[in-house]
Amino acid sequence: MTRLLAPGKLVIATHNAGKLREIRALLAPYGMECLSAGELGLPEPAETGTTFAENALIKAHASASASGLPALADDSGLCVVALNGAPGVYTADWAEAAPFEGGPGRDWYLAMGKVEGKLAQLGPDTPRDCWFACVLALTWPDSREMVFEGRAPGTLTWPPRGTMGFGYDPVFVPSGDARTFAELDPAEKHRISHRADAFSKLVSSALTD
Ligand code: IMP
Repeated sequence: MTRLLAPGKLVIATHNAGKLREIRALLAPYGMECLSAGELGLPEPAETGTTFAENALIKAHASASASGLPALADDSGLCVVALNGAPGVYTADWAEAAPFEGGPGRDWYLAMGKVEGKLAQLGPDTPRDCWFACVLALTWPDSREMVFEGRAPGTLTWPPRGTMGFGYDPVFVPSGDARTFAELDPAEKHRISHRADAFSKLVSSALTD
């Protein structure tokens, strides 16, 4: 059987440099030449969905139809159990603020503080369990689509620790470790992250002969 996604060009439907770096590393062994929507100057569609899957599909279909190439989008976020899954699909929006490292107009330190502030309001005994979710949408210019979901369970720590990774990595301690994602080297994070979990499903369904 030939694999569904042949080696060659693949548009990564993101303008986020941190995600692009991780996705390129994860796909490098499969002969994919990853071009980013940002580098190709493709428009960034509004993420109007209410689920990770809806948003990933919006981004992937927009890139595939604009480029004529297969496209892969990642929609991801932090879900906190005591906050009923928030910030969830609104994870990036919680960082809208003054310019800071992590992207224009996004302040991740402020966003991490917002989550911490909401937990503090619920009291000192509030459980700090959370998970990172990642949904990958793989689409083709003829509108075919596939969706893969991954998760990484963990707990929130405060104050933030570590300098690697991006976004909320400095407050996320993955289950089974004492270090935050931002204290793990990228290869270690790739082995256990929500993105790695979704990617292993993508690989077995679309990148394996
Ligand atoms: P979106 O998928 O572009 O809507 O953005 C989701 C946001 O979730 C990112 O901008 C990050 O802040 C956060 N996020 C997703 N994956 C990770 C991760 O691996 N580490 C840290 N933060 C993440």
